[in-house]
Amino acid sequence: MTMWNLNPLKGFDAREHLDIAFADNEVTNAEKDFLIGLYEKYREGLGRPSEALCAPGQRQGLYSLVHDAYGMIQDNGRLKNLRADLKLLADYCPYCGFGQISDLDHLLQRSRFKLLSIFALNLVPCCGVCNRGKRKKPASNPAKHQLHTYLESVSQFEFLRATATIRSSTGALSVEYSVEQCIGMSDELFSRLKFHLIEFKLQEKYVKQVNIHLNEQIAALRMAYRNGPSELRNFLLATAHAHKENFGANDWRTALFLALAQCEAFWSGGFERALGKAASV
Ligand SMILES: [Zn+2]
Repeated sequence: MTMWNLNPLKGFDAREHLDIAFADNEVTNAEKDFLIGLYEKYREGLGRPSEALCAPGQRQGLYSLVHDAYGMIQDNGRLKNLRADLKLLADYCPYCGFGQISDLDHLLQRSRFKLLSIFALNLVPCCGVCNRGKRKKPASNPAKHQLHTYLESVSQFEFLRATATIRSSTGALSVEYSVEQCIGMSDELFSRLKFHLIEFKLQEKYVKQVNIHLNEQIAALRMAYRNGPSELRNFLLATAHAHKENFGANDWRTALFLALAQCEAFWSGGFERALGKAASV
């Protein structure tokens, strides 16, 4: 699975990271114990933002020391191995599902949650566009809290949907993504997933990706269509199935091919003209 969820880093030792970062005892052992306790609170609360995770009331120097220690996770820092290990957790950006991994995102923003700056569970490998586009503060409304990539699995639901239509006026393909509320999905999770599409501007980004992705497959589409529209439809379904196995049910590519298989105007011959046009919202 490459979108929404990642498996967390296995067997990391948060205490060891603190010991490496603060080898000169700028941070006392008692303070390290406090940080480990804070990490536990984070884990228990599934990384949802809270005042408690800002941990007010510590000495002022501690916040800046821990905040600045993130510099050691940069490419030549003392914690550079942590950066390399985290980046290996994902093939593509888990926020958009296609971007190349270039950054580590502080899921709870570093400027606000200073003491979580080098906590591995708060660091998500992602693409630069998603990282830069994210808000600088978490939403105060819990219905807009970002989904936790490691701690909140959504794989029991099949919620990402796409609808494909061919505009009769221009023949252009339009694909629209949405989130469906599945049985057993809370209203709050439903809102948060919908907000994820907005926060990371996924509809906008997918317009371009869909076009690139389908144009790469044009030869396969033509070959399938040579044996008739229903063969093209079967090909679209088989591709959706393969994408589901590879990338998960809630990947944008899986949703795309299911949508195309339901778009008769596409598989009955409209695909040639549709792909000659830029896909539009
Ligand atoms: Zn991304």
